[in-house]
Amino acid sequence: MRRRIVAGNWKMNGSKDLVQQLVGDIREQVSNLDDLVRSGLDVVIVPPALYVDSVVSLCGAELAAGVQNVSQWRSGAYTGEVSSDMARDLGCQYALVGHSERRQLFDETDSVIALKVARVIESGLAAVLCVGETLEEREAGEAKRVVADQVEKGLAMVGADQWSRVVVAYEPVWAIGTGKTATSEDAQAMHAEIRGVLERINAPSENISVLYGGSVKADNAAALFAEPDIDGGLIGGASLKAEEFVSICRAF
Ligand code: PGA
Repeated sequence: MRRRIVAGNWKMNGSKDLVQQLVGDIREQVSNLDDLVRSGLDVVIVPPALYVDSVVSLCGAELAAGVQNVSQWRSGAYTGEVSSDMARDLGCQYALVGHSERRQLFDETDSVIALKVARVIESGLAAVLCVGETLEEREAGEAKRVVADQVEKGLAMVGADQWSRVVVAYEPVWAIGTGKTATSEDAQAMHAEIRGVLERINAPSENISVLYGGSVKADNAAALFAEPDIDGGLIGGASLKAEEFVSICRAF
């Protein structure tokens, strides 16, 4: 069975105070979701790297933590970088790789992303490979091709026995932070397509969780999560409000 996952990507937001408040509130409210958590829902907090240590110490057994990015290198003279081994050392279980903001603002290419996925897996974490088309690509009828390409290239270095550490997150770029969500039908169609690509590259597609991200809110999560190939969400803006984030977790 595929794991269901709701991950809150805080992006570059937060402070020591917010960490205390938000993680405390989420944890308290998630403990009411015991049944969901026990039945295989991972609720993941993905704060800026500097706050990971405090987040992990506040997570308890109910929540997991992740990082938003890791270096493609393992260790050494790479000023400013954070390694996947360090994330593991602090107690993270997940790492996002290839978020569209990394691709667009930091010029991350598919080959760098493939290296990062490999590093994350080597460190014993689950890699959440983020993929998604821009509005121009969608309007040009290129969405499926672009996403398939990103999935295939991003996962090019995953070994046959490593698929249990792979998660894919489909996040159409035009839906991120814009308040525009893909309809659940459009999202489902792309998720089915992604599962097809996973099959083509000999990954056990039925066991790999595929999350949807892009303006997921408490009021649209249930329709998205009801789709057969949508196994959860990667939540940006709405993950910074405990009540809204937990309502999204409850939408399964
Ligand atoms: P959003 O961000 O929920 O604010 O659209 C999602 C993401 O970038 O992961």
